[in-house]
Amino acid sequence: MDETPLRLLADGMLGRLARWLRLLGYDTAYENDADDVYLARRARAEGRVLLTRDRALAARRGLRTLLIESEVLEEQVRQVWQTLGPPPDPALSRCSLCNLSLKPASREEVAERVPPYILRTQTEFRICPGCGRVYWPGTHLEQMRRQMEEFALR
Ligand SMILES: [Zn+2]
Repeated sequence: MDETPLRLLADGMLGRLARWLRLLGYDTAYENDADDVYLARRARAEGRVLLTRDRALAARRGLRTLLIESEVLEEQVRQVWQTLGPPPDPALSRCSLCNLSLKPASREEVAERVPPYILRTQTEFRICPGCGRVYWPGTHLEQMRRQMEEFALR
């Protein structure tokens, strides 16, 4: 078995998937505007599995790739989860925009950055040290995670 932690690199067509994978706990780099040569080089240099919708790129030698088959987000996530395994990190441990590890934050720290309703009803907050975005466990994320865990059991 490969002991290195699972890391991913999503190509330019998979930005939405990349954001969800990060929220779910996958270390996922994303290149919005890079050519195949660059993508292949980065994936290899950083030991990342390259996620792509491009058959030719997925067939490159000397590279771990996963050809994403569906255009539907849930099915894409499910394919990653089933093929590569569950996320190595807990959900909500990475910024969906920067892929940086989130830091726990107190209510006071985030008070001016989240809507009042959220501040009243949530107790657990995390903040991105890069972009300053604040996260809390939302129902959408919970739903996605539950759905994936159910799929994984089948
Ligand atoms: Zn960020």
